[in-house]
Amino acid sequence: MAIEKLVGESIEQKKSCNLCKEASLETGKKTDYGSIIVFRIGTGTEDGWFATLSPKTGGLEKDFSLQLMPFSHLTHFAQLLKYSKLAKNYGIAFAKLNHAMAKVMAEESKKFKLTAKSKYSAISIATYGKCTNWKEKKEHLHIKIFPFSGNIGQPYTVDSSFGKKKEFNDKTGKSFVKMKPVEKIYIPKKRLEILSVRLIKILEDEKTW
Ligand SMILES: [Zn+2]
Repeated sequence: MAIEKLVGESIEQKKSCNLCKEASLETGKKTDYGSIIVFRIGTGTEDGWFATLSPKTGGLEKDFSLQLMPFSHLTHFAQLLKYSKLAKNYGIAFAKLNHAMAKVMAEESKKFKLTAKSKYSAISIATYGKCTNWKEKKEHLHIKIFPFSGNIGQPYTVDSSFGKKKEFNDKTGKSFVKMKPVEKIYIPKKRLEILSVRLIKILEDEKTW
């Protein structure tokens, strides 16, 4: 698709979009869904992003996930090409959120030791994002960032590690792999609050180069 044909924000979808409503909330505020705004960058629809701490997890100990979204109702990653400041701030926001998540994971678990030699080397973080069909401009663009564990309850993409799983055959001869059932749980209220306060503090302290 040629750049000149890239479409902008879907104004008609804004009214019924919950993420568009959340975009106006200040850092620290809770959304109707129960997530907490932990980060904002930019001032308007052509440069702004916000991130939330999700109230639910894939059911793993000390798990948590972040979600990054533009202020504007964009539905395709390609649309970032239309707004250069938005694209620039996406990179900054993505880097900061990943850094903040790694820092919290290191603080919470000894297995993610920080050493001068290999900072964050033992910390696996994954991301997930998708574009909807170009004609059906519905879903507000969002990117999930989370500690990677390979649990099916996580929003992870099927990658090479999935391909390495042992294969079984059913009665018809079709092959399949075994996975644990999807289980989503709410993060305890107190922990969600502590996590959000810590993340906001780290994200405020982080420098932008
Ligand atoms: Zn929206």
